[in-house]
Amino acid sequence: MRSLYNSPPMSNPSSPPPPRQLPSRRRPRAGTVELVFLGSGTSAGVPMIGCACDVCTSTDPRDQRTRPSVVIRYGETQVLVDTTPELRLQAIANHIHRIDAVVFTHAHADHIMGLDDVRRFNYVRGGPLDVWADAATHQTLQTCFHYAFREPHPEQKVFRPHLVRREIRNRRHFTIDGVRWQPIKLLHGELPVLGFRVGRLAYCTDVSTIPAESYRFLEGLDVLVLDALQKKKHTTHFNLEEAIEQAKRIKAKQTWFTHIAHGLGHEATNRELPKGMRLAYDGLAVRAEL
Ligand SMILES: [Zn+2]
Ligand SMILES: [Zn+2]
Ligand SMILES: [Zn+2]
Repeated sequence: MRSLYNSPPMSNPSSPPPPRQLPSRRRPRAGTVELVFLGSGTSAGVPMIGCACDVCTSTDPRDQRTRPSVVIRYGETQVLVDTTPELRLQAIANHIHRIDAVVFTHAHADHIMGLDDVRRFNYVRGGPLDVWADAATHQTLQTCFHYAFREPHPEQKVFRPHLVRREIRNRRHFTIDGVRWQPIKLLHGELPVLGFRVGRLAYCTDVSTIPAESYRFLEGLDVLVLDALQKKKHTTHFNLEEAIEQAKRIKAKQTWFTHIAHGLGHEATNRELPKGMRLAYDGLAVRAEL
């Protein structure tokens, strides 16, 4: 298997060697889990194309939001949650040089369209990557990226991802490098999607309803990450008021809001938020007990 990855693909002679000299993030302390926001923006990103509003033209870097994705890290392990169209730029900006697995919340375009770029992680790793998702998400991934789930041909050195389908069945927990990942059922409008709990941290994006049976997975959290799109009510996302209400009910030590649209300026919104609740921003890292 390894031999497939030993030399740079012939079709891409400019592919650089593995990034051994690059600045890297410090490993999370033993017993802790860290979440790095690669992107905290909604599906259109902020600034939005063709918008001259105060937030889209803001000079505060925290008002520049790429599409929603995080890396969850513990020990030597780094797991990518969702693959946005900005994956390559997000990985470079956040010194994410290696990924050990990919986990998906759901298959909307802003969460999956960067999947082809994980081929660099295949190369750096020298092997395939596990992709954890429910059956509905896998079906869309299969339609969009069918080539990525096939075993590479040893002679054809095509530079493409090499993925292994891992199905999350009935939201049963699974483990990545010995750590338990608990899927949490969320409703995104009518669409069931997955949040995830790892240790005392939970990532719940793209949600407009938390089903009653899911709250038990949100007890005793150090860190909750929750969808908060805008002030106006929306059919498939919590607005800010609903997100605050949910955060008060869940009572995590810290709540960070994500999937943020251009209606919410970083500074101005944070001034209005209750204690222990803040807007996330691209590049922010938060920690919890594992
Ligand atoms: Zn989304
Ligand atoms: Zn705008
Ligand atoms: Zn979505």
